[in-house]
Amino acid sequence: MISPEELFKKVTAHAKEYGFIFQSSEIYDGLGAVYDYGQNGVELKNNLREYWWKSMVQMNENIVGIDAAIFMHPKVWKASGHVDGFSDPMIDNKDSKKRYRADQLLEEQIEKYEKKGKTDKAEALNAAMNKALNDNDLKAMYNLIVEHEIVCPISGTRNWTEVRQFNLMFSTQMGSVADESDAVYLRPETAQGIFVNFLNVQKTGRMKIPFGIAQTGKAFRNEIIARQFIMRMREFEQMEMQFFVKPGTEMEWFAHWKKTRLNWHLALGIPADSYRFHDHEKLAHYANAATDIEFRFPFGFKEVEGIHSRTDFDLRNHQELSGKKLQYFDPETNSSYIPYVIETSIGLDRLFLLLMCSAYREEETGEGDKKEIRTVLALPPQVAPVKVAVFPLTKKDGLPEKARKIMDSLMPSFRCHYEEKDAIGKRYRRHDAIGTPFCITVDHESLQNDTVTLRHRDTMQQERVAIDALEGILFKHTGMSSLLKNAQ
Ligand code: ATP
Repeated sequence: MISPEELFKKVTAHAKEYGFIFQSSEIYDGLGAVYDYGQNGVELKNNLREYWWKSMVQMNENIVGIDAAIFMHPKVWKASGHVDGFSDPMIDNKDSKKRYRADQLLEEQIEKYEKKGKTDKAEALNAAMNKALNDNDLKAMYNLIVEHEIVCPISGTRNWTEVRQFNLMFSTQMGSVADESDAVYLRPETAQGIFVNFLNVQKTGRMKIPFGIAQTGKAFRNEIIARQFIMRMREFEQMEMQFFVKPGTEMEWFAHWKKTRLNWHLALGIPADSYRFHDHEKLAHYANAATDIEFRFPFGFKEVEGIHSRTDFDLRNHQELSGKKLQYFDPETNSSYIPYVIETSIGLDRLFLLLMCSAYREEETGEGDKKEIRTVLALPPQVAPVKVAVFPLTKKDGLPEKARKIMDSLMPSFRCHYEEKDAIGKRYRRHDAIGTPFCITVDHESLQNDTVTLRHRDTMQQERVAIDALEGILFKHTGMSSLLKNAQ
């Protein structure tokens, strides 16, 4: 059994070794909390995005997609509350010069108390922390850190600065001449691009409430502490859907999306006990209900997706600041209103990490001196970077030509790899490690009767199948439709 700490180290190393994730600008020693996706990573990421997009936009007649620009008018972030309120309480340790999120230091302390069975202390600290956060009382947070004798994990000292607010938005200049330019922000969430286009989409798409607008795209946050690999990045990708509903019906829709989104995760075949809901006690001022879908990462349960009932906060503020009406005319009641919104917001990179952590296996195979450890990425076949690898058994006797023909017939429908180097066993291992669900071997029999061996990644079973049947088998197991049906 691999311990969770070991698993996380192995997943991180594996992601680099097999071309999933590289540190950004690695030759210059990297850039903090920014990562690049490699040749296999980009395929997995694209497939996950496609699964999300299709399950939102293709599977729901009343949800459409958009692709808004990253840059938006600076007033957008005033209206959304990000200019004034998108900040984290931070504290510096004067000895190590390290910066921490004050609430996270307190949360770690609560976990420590819980592990030691000091439930009363944990509960009291949790209540006090929630109160301080709710009241936005930075002094109270500082006092809690001092009172509970929290030390800096690096320096081991309690030499803290006061707690301050730190805005997480990146700003830059627009226009070529600095004097004439306005500060613009890199969007910290994709949601606002949806809100400002609410009426454009509603009118041009003749959408009737309830309806949703979906979007995927990059978001940027100057996270104070970025750690745990791609869990908390400064540049990341979100997949968000804002569902516009009639005021008063939002709780029904909140329950609907809570259930629907969990089903979507479970359709990936990950055990249900790896997930849990974390209903928020402390609600943001604009929300009247909120929950997180948390996944059991090797470093504990952490949020992958947020589901929020945002009331009419965003549309109302945009209406006020822009002076443009953002209301829906309800033909049934002959009246206009600002819709309420249920938001589902998932981080694509966190989902990627979730899949890598749950798919990574080390298995003992073979007997006697043939015993070996095989590393398998047991990804759902529908999202695997490569769907099928085609191998000629040897490099002669016309086998490569036959294998190439099979490649040519499958390439338009599936991401395929062709390999003729090394023994078949080694080629299987390479593809196990990147999660390829099927390998096809072309041998001498193939030349006689147009059959090949099809090897299944997870069971390592091989079966003889007709070349004509390959496309159908691959569609059945790797096509996105099977996943979409399960997610319903
Ligand atoms: P956290 O509490 O972990 O910072 P959040 O509550 O600020 O997350 P939201 O603003 O609700 O997150 O964003 C929705 C989703 O976007 C999150 O569930 C997460 O999957 C993803 N996300 C947010 N911040 C980051 C980040 N810095 N790096 C990677 N993904 C992120």
